[in-house]
Amino acid sequence: MNVIWAPWRMAYVKNAREPARCIFCLEHGTRRDGARLVLHRGRYGFVIMNRYPYNSGHLLVAPYAHVKSLELLPADCALDLIRMTNLSIRALQLAVRPEGFNVGFNLGQVGGAGIEAHLHLHVVPRWNGDTNFMSVLAETRVIPEHLRATYRTLRAAFRSALAGHRPAVGPRRSRSPEAGAKRGTTIKRHPVPTSAARRSAKANP
Ligand SMILES: [Zn+2]
Repeated sequence: MNVIWAPWRMAYVKNAREPARCIFCLEHGTRRDGARLVLHRGRYGFVIMNRYPYNSGHLLVAPYAHVKSLELLPADCALDLIRMTNLSIRALQLAVRPEGFNVGFNLGQVGGAGIEAHLHLHVVPRWNGDTNFMSVLAETRVIPEHLRATYRTLRAAFRSALAGHRPAVGPRRSRSPEAGAKRGTTIKRHPVPTSAARRSAKANP
């Protein structure tokens, strides 16, 4: 597997080990869902955008229950996490047409969990070549405007996915996620750097 190098996450990794309060313990009511970047609330859990993403459209699926490991969840709750993971994948397919996904749990600090006390599942959309250009764009990726625009796009995609809409099938007309913009439901992604920038990134890893 190609691993995305995401240096902009260092601020999060360094500072978020011991948050004042658990960021995955949602307050009751949906008034702050927009500010919290909550995309969907299910019966036993919810889907939220990662403010420090590995990739554009990086989502987190978490139970409402403050538990740190999967086996501590009742079966209904664990099944709901899988349902919301499928919903997240469908919404991302509608919005940005990824070419693949990384989906999974990091359990425990040694296992890579940033917030180890509250279980959460990562859904990371992947595109061919994203490991090459991510580092070039590192400084520009996590900006509030980008997160809010992505949030609005994904909220619409979740509504479509819940309504049963399916991503278009058949051969892709373009490898670019921007192709989805013509359908009006894509995340605005950063431009792919020039070949010169790619060569520069390889020369200066
Ligand atoms: Zn919690």
